[in-house]
This record gives sequence, structure tokens and C-alpha cells, in this order.
Amino acid sequence: MRRRRTVLGYFMAKVRDVLFQRKMEAMADRCAQEIEAMGNLLRPPWTPEQVEALNAAQRDPSRHPYTCGNNRTDARHTDGEGVLVATPDGWVCPFCDYRQPWCHGADTFRPVSGE
Ligand SMILES: [Zn+2]
Repeated sequence: MRRRRTVLGYFMAKVRDVLFQRKMEAMADRCAQEIEAMGNLLRPPWTPEQVEALNAAQRDPSRHPYTCGNNRTDARHTDGEGVLVATPDGWVCPFCDYRQPWCHGADTFRPVSGE
């Protein structure tokens, strides 16, 4: 009985090792993908998570927002800046017909919170 438990314990430890290693490999893969994406210009379609992260960044006072490429200080642009809104199809200006089909990949990642 004792020997069986030992064998089972050894087997379970091996299973845990393999699962842990696979999890580490998956995390490493994801990190590599994110690092690569950060340096690229990202074109739509953007995922709901990317759209949410981009719009959160637009509201972050510590960052410069993406703004309208037309005359963003005319009377139509009532916010005075033409701050763009992210959609799955790219940036749209809420005040005119300006569209922008790219963002910096780094801006699609939410900042790490302290939770
Ligand atoms: Zn505009």
C-alpha cells in the first residue's frame, strides 16, 4: 500500500510538472506575441478587448489621445480636440467623417493594474 501511494505520488508530481511547464510555455508564447504586437501598427478589425483598451487609453489623462486628422479645432469639434473613438472597424471622429485605420499595437494592451 505504501509503495502504491509512493508510485501514485511520483506520477502526480510528474503530471503537475508537465502541466506547470505547459502553462509556462503558454505564458511565454503570449508574452512573445504581445511584445511583437507592441512594436507594430495594428489595422482593424480590432477585437472587443482591443476596442475597450483603446477607448480606456483615450480617457487616460496621462496619455495623449488619438485625435481627428481634419481641422479638429473648427466649430463642429465641440471638444476642441476631436478625440477619436475606437470601434471594431478603426477610429472614428464623433464630429466629422474622419476615419483612421490604424493604431499603435502597444495601445491595445490595458495597463497592468495594482489589483
Ligand atoms: Zn473630426
